[in-house]
Amino acid sequence: MKAIRRFTVRPVLPEPLRPLSDLARNLRWSWHTETRELFQAVDPDGWVAAGGDPVRLLGTVPSRRLAELADDRRFLRRLTEASDDLDDYLNGSRWYQKQNDEGAELPRAVAYFSPEFGVTAALPQYSGGLGILAGDHLKAASDLGLPLIGVGLLYRHGYFRQSLSRDGWQQEHYPVLDPNELPVSLLREPDGTPTQVVLALPGGRSLRAHIWQAQVGRVPLLMLDSDVEENAASERDVTDRLYGGGSEHRLLQEMLLGIGGVRAVRAYCRLTGHAEPEVFHTNEGHAGFLGLERIRELGSQGLEFDAALESVRAGTVFTTHTPVPAGIDRFDRELVAHHFGDQGELPGLDVGRILQLGMETYPGGEPNLFNMAVMGLRLAQRANGVSTLHGAVSRSMFAGLWPGFDPEEVPITSITNGVHAPTWVAPEVIRLGARQIGLSRTEEALSVGDSQRWDTVADIADTDIWDLRRTLRQQLVQEVRERLRASWRQRGAGEAELGWVDDVLDPGVLTIGFARRVPSYKRLTLMLRDRDRLMELLLHPTRPIQIVVAGKAHPADDGGKRLVQELVRFTDDPRVRHRIVFLPDYGMRMAQKLYPGCDVWLNNPLRPLEACGTSGMKAALNGCLNLSVLDGWWDEWFEPDFGWAIPTADGAATDDDRRDELEANALYDLIEQHVAPRFYDRGPGGLPDRWIEMVRQTLVTLGPKLLAGRMVREYVERLYAPAAHAHRSLDPDAARELALWKARVRTAWPQVAVDHVEALTPTAVNGTAELGATLALRVRVALGALAPDDVEVQAVAGRVDPDDAIGEARTFPLKPTGGPDLEGRWVYEGPLALDRTGPFGYTVRILPAHRLLATHADLGLVAVPSETTGEAAGVLLR
Ligand SMILES: *Cc1c(COP(=O)(O)O)cnc(C)c1O
Repeated sequence: MKAIRRFTVRPVLPEPLRPLSDLARNLRWSWHTETRELFQAVDPDGWVAAGGDPVRLLGTVPSRRLAELADDRRFLRRLTEASDDLDDYLNGSRWYQKQNDEGAELPRAVAYFSPEFGVTAALPQYSGGLGILAGDHLKAASDLGLPLIGVGLLYRHGYFRQSLSRDGWQQEHYPVLDPNELPVSLLREPDGTPTQVVLALPGGRSLRAHIWQAQVGRVPLLMLDSDVEENAASERDVTDRLYGGGSEHRLLQEMLLGIGGVRAVRAYCRLTGHAEPEVFHTNEGHAGFLGLERIRELGSQGLEFDAALESVRAGTVFTTHTPVPAGIDRFDRELVAHHFGDQGELPGLDVGRILQLGMETYPGGEPNLFNMAVMGLRLAQRANGVSTLHGAVSRSMFAGLWPGFDPEEVPITSITNGVHAPTWVAPEVIRLGARQIGLSRTEEALSVGDSQRWDTVADIADTDIWDLRRTLRQQLVQEVRERLRASWRQRGAGEAELGWVDDVLDPGVLTIGFARRVPSYKRLTLMLRDRDRLMELLLHPTRPIQIVVAGKAHPADDGGKRLVQELVRFTDDPRVRHRIVFLPDYGMRMAQKLYPGCDVWLNNPLRPLEACGTSGMKAALNGCLNLSVLDGWWDEWFEPDFGWAIPTADGAATDDDRRDELEANALYDLIEQHVAPRFYDRGPGGLPDRWIEMVRQTLVTLGPKLLAGRMVREYVERLYAPAAHAHRSLDPDAARELALWKARVRTAWPQVAVDHVEALTPTAVNGTAELGATLALRVRVALGALAPDDVEVQAVAGRVDPDDAIGEARTFPLKPTGGPDLEGRWVYEGPLALDRTGPFGYTVRILPAHRLLATHADLGLVAVPSETTGEAAGVLLR
């Protein structure tokens, strides 16, 4: 019989056990081993049955057991200890408080928006790297004491669970999540009614949402949920699943996240007294509408659109995560127009202005599309990519928005991702660190990052490192057999057919891991390129390898599902099935076992399409070595002392197929000639000394760089603090001043020009000059209605290539030498240092300048010499 209504009966904990409830509701347990072990002790079998989720566990423990524990003095002592430890964690002074005490100007609070958050498998609201990074960001902010509020959606079905059909085709299931069984609580008004956020939709409809709050250490995570009774059926479904549905569905999700999210933050601050955020950070473009909502808020306080835009931009940070244009959300302009304005949301804002913000105003742009990344860049004064290489790729990709500027000058910086070590490092590794320097120092080194502490890894004995690696590999082998058996049962195999599973993988064999989502650029099946060659590597008589593979294809991506099937079919072959396995349902729970247990983490994307990649970082923190294409973070930090770079054929004029072939062969060669020998070569003591040294170097050299604590500190210092400062400087008067000034500059700009450029030093004119000399320049410019205060006139100089393009440019500001002449022209002069030998060139340009601009490129305006003046300006010294 089917129930017509369901609800959750909460357990009543005996008084002495009450602290268990707080421990279960703060997700810090997900990265705190002692707390997890305490829950396990409550009911070891129940813990396994509850999938390691304390809230579910407490819902199932028999009251007899609870009564027993309430009387167990040893248990109660442990409980008090864990509970005090959480108290200290939540209330102690941490990095942020110390910086504040030392007088750093830090934001009072930051709001961090993301369409997905991967905090723990017990709150499955993520699909992959983007979400897990967001979860790690919250945890690191918590560790650092940074007052941050996370904002997302609560999806009723989360992302799908993956299983396989008999013939290896991906099957998707969307289990229903009941928020009452999740570690979240409803935000309520003082009178007890749930707080509601309401959005106006076309046709007089409304979209309402409740706000669920998860507590991630010190950081609240607010999640909007449209499944509320007052909504019509279609609106209830807005938060049904992550990345599901058509374009209108996605638009509604993103409006709820951005606009509803700001409203949720306001409600949260009103109800709890939390400081109002000064900085709004959007993780990818999906939450971009948050900027419009804040413009509306300022408008209701009397600020005009343009001034409000300046104020909002100053306090907004946008992080782009994809170098693949197809990975960016683009909506039909008409669809967006339909949802805003008088009969939709933000009725006070001019729809034309909104549409302009998302317009692709560059060559090749689609006039009928509204681009969320483009809007993100226009609404944020500060933007970044997620690795050094990805920063450069993003600057080129979006250069069209700053016409006249070289890609290097496009105002998109980069902060390389990091991962939350306490979440991703196996307890065995933490214990080894604790033996070395004590538990609290190890925790500190893992969370905040402190390379001195990491140096002590150098003192750990070879035998300890190798024992650890063996233990972790052994655990993985066990885990793989269990998961594989379950998968085969699901695929319809009977127990009698599955005896072979007990012999799958060998705890002594070099273990390679490969797990990730399955978009085509990640090349799940590159390893299958030459099956015979792979088979030889797997079955090598003395130096075999074994491979564990996992990954989910997007439900709408049949191409990806074919790749999964191809791989599964290969792993089903009885000749190799003991050496290569595909595990369905890649997620955080599997990942936490997989990374530590592998010896080598393989990554072979099409360079440069992997923006950063974080799985290899998590593996490295457990002493697993990386074998990867030089893409994302590996391009930046690879050293031969601790890993291998797979040679690539990008940039060469080869087609995709040939490229795959070249790169696959390079991969096989590397494994056969370098990786496997290094693993199997034993020194005099019977240990693989050189391998162990690479593990040690991975930890000492890479370890501290890979931490989310390092990443969040960089966000604070390089983006949040400057954004907070800029936002404070733009009070309404300053915002109006800046907006009016920009309007004036835009109007006047067509009259701004470089008229004439003259080098006053004769040597430079006849073509050679000496290093260290200076070149005196005199430049005549037209400024139209502008004055010298409104612009900077500068010389740009550097080495030139055969096409006269200036590389590694330096700029030299020039100074006006008195008032305008009779024709209204201004003369500027200044020296230019000839600080490089070889072909050298310079040019001159005029840029808008204002004390409240973050960069000269801000308006995307620049005046350079015309072709004819260029003759004079482009004087080359060869
Ligand atoms: C870290 C992680 C990812 C992202 O890994 P990439 O290397 O960026 O592909 C995806 N899924 C899970 C479960 C992870 O833990």
